Amino acid sequence: MLTVFKDLKPFFKENKKRYTLAILGMLSDNLLILVPPYILGLVIDAIYQQTLTIEQLIRYSIVFFVVVSLSYVIGAMWIFQLFGGSNLLTRDLRRQLMNHFSKMRAIFYEKFRTGDLMARATNDLRAVSEMAGFGVMVFMDSTLFLGSIILVMFFTVSWKLTLVSLLPLPLLGWILKILGDKVNKRFKASQDAFADINDEVLEAVEGVRVIRAYVQEQSKQEQFEERTEDVLAKNIAVTKINSTFQPIITILLGVSYFIAFGYGAMLVSSNALSIGELISFQVYLGMVVWPVQSIGELINLVEQGSASLERVNEVLDASDDMEEYGTQKITSQPSVQFDNVSFKYPQSPDYNLKNVSLTVPAGMTVGIVGKTGSGKTTLIKQLLRLYPLGEGKILLEGKNIKEYSLDEIHSKIGYVPQEYILFSRSVRDNISFGVEEASEESILNAIKMANLEDDIKRMPEGLDTLVGEKGVALSGGQKQRISLARALLLNPDILLLDDTLSAVDAKTEKNIINTIQTVRREKTTFIITHRLSAIHHADWIIVLEDGKIIDEGTHASLIEDENSWYYAQFERQKLKEESI
Ligand code: ADP
Repeated sequence: MLTVFKDLKPFFKENKKRYTLAILGMLSDNLLILVPPYILGLVIDAIYQQTLTIEQLIRYSIVFFVVVSLSYVIGAMWIFQLFGGSNLLTRDLRRQLMNHFSKMRAIFYEKFRTGDLMARATNDLRAVSEMAGFGVMVFMDSTLFLGSIILVMFFTVSWKLTLVSLLPLPLLGWILKILGDKVNKRFKASQDAFADINDEVLEAVEGVRVIRAYVQEQSKQEQFEERTEDVLAKNIAVTKINSTFQPIITILLGVSYFIAFGYGAMLVSSNALSIGELISFQVYLGMVVWPVQSIGELINLVEQGSASLERVNEVLDASDDMEEYGTQKITSQPSVQFDNVSFKYPQSPDYNLKNVSLTVPAGMTVGIVGKTGSGKTTLIKQLLRLYPLGEGKILLEGKNIKEYSLDEIHSKIGYVPQEYILFSRSVRDNISFGVEEASEESILNAIKMANLEDDIKRMPEGLDTLVGEKGVALSGGQKQRISLARALLLNPDILLLDDTLSAVDAKTEKNIINTIQTVRREKTTFIITHRLSAIHHADWIIVLEDGKIIDEGTHASLIEDENSWYYAQFERQKLKEESI
């Protein structure tokens, strides 16, 4: 049961000084607290025997006062050290989790849902951290403190009375053990249910517009109520088991008191125990109440903490099954080569890329087209190493992509997805994100290339306009172009545009892409688009279908084959644009 403390050993070791101070403080405090009842017994016996002198009373009073004051100071010190430790553990675990989240790639996030990760990073983390503060305290109380009170009762008052009155304790231990196992199971189930509801809330908030548009409020509400009921039922199950702890403890302590008074009175009447000793014993028995209760608390805390630690560690131990990165740096404007690349997503039954071979000399602009689901995004995501590499090789500057470091890949390859990511800051901060101290001129240049100038002029605060959470204050096309400007400012060696301009009109898309191509003449650009007009001027175009390259060439060469998908698509789009 106490393995959770063992699991936290590295943390305790790291904070050895803090915990040594806390535990020593707690121990001496607990020992000091045992002194006043002993003095009380002595004073009562002296009064009863009429032997108490004024000097004696003053001496006892001074000792009493010193002990209580010392206990207060030491108490404040160990409580501060111990509960500070709990805060430190929260910080450390939070850092570890955040660090892990930022390193993990796509597969990890397909394994764990966002709501679940949030639940683990908040509720579970709190339960684990309690172990390092309150948990340690109740552990000490229910072991060393309880043990020392019993020893003092045993040796300074009466061993017989101690043994007899504590008879109900083993029974209590046995009952609490049985209940403890149940707490663990029920608590885990309640945390899982909480994770589910977190996910549900996130989805509902993010999808609120769609829910309303499709008049699904009622059904969503019902679904949500079902989940809430589930969480409630599981939390009640935990509360039920917790609530059975206290009455059992109270009853068994009551039995102890009953025995102590009854048997104690018998001992006094047979002169085996003095009145003062019996009173000291009762005070000690009163002191036993909390440590015994804390056994219940301990079981609760430990079982909940270990269930939560298991859930936190499950995330920390989960990897994204990715190959190691190399250490090489990209030294030139790199050429890119796909050499017979085949790949399938871990969750996918079939190959999503099949024997793709493509050579892209440095500085080339490549258009990638094909039906939805044909593997366009998958192909360029392989360059970002978001998923494990498939069969075949991907080469940069002629070297296997595996040999390059993660930082190198991220800093030299820019990716602009269709689903923009904006932060709730100003337009300027969103564009200069990732470039430290970007000059005003370079920001304005990126804005010009992304055709954002007029939009920014119309914004109330210009570049300093706040975009709101996830860019709510902007149109879809504006959001896409801000995210494009961000990548253009970074000016990466290889730029991947993944249907980046789907929300702007065809003419604007064409203009932006032509500008990008001119500005990035020396650099490599991959452009995925549904509008063939946007990539007329690309140096090379590949057509994907079902993960395979079914056609490739320049725009002029591709439209020569009137039976091709490219030709049919081109004609259809031309007619549509003309009719508009
Ligand atoms: P495109 O960009 O051409 O629209 P994608 O490259 O996004 O197509 O997808 C190619 C295929 O891979 C599709 O059949 C899609 O369902 C599948 N796919 C995409 N992402 C994943 C994933 N994370 N796990 C499993 N299958 C995926």
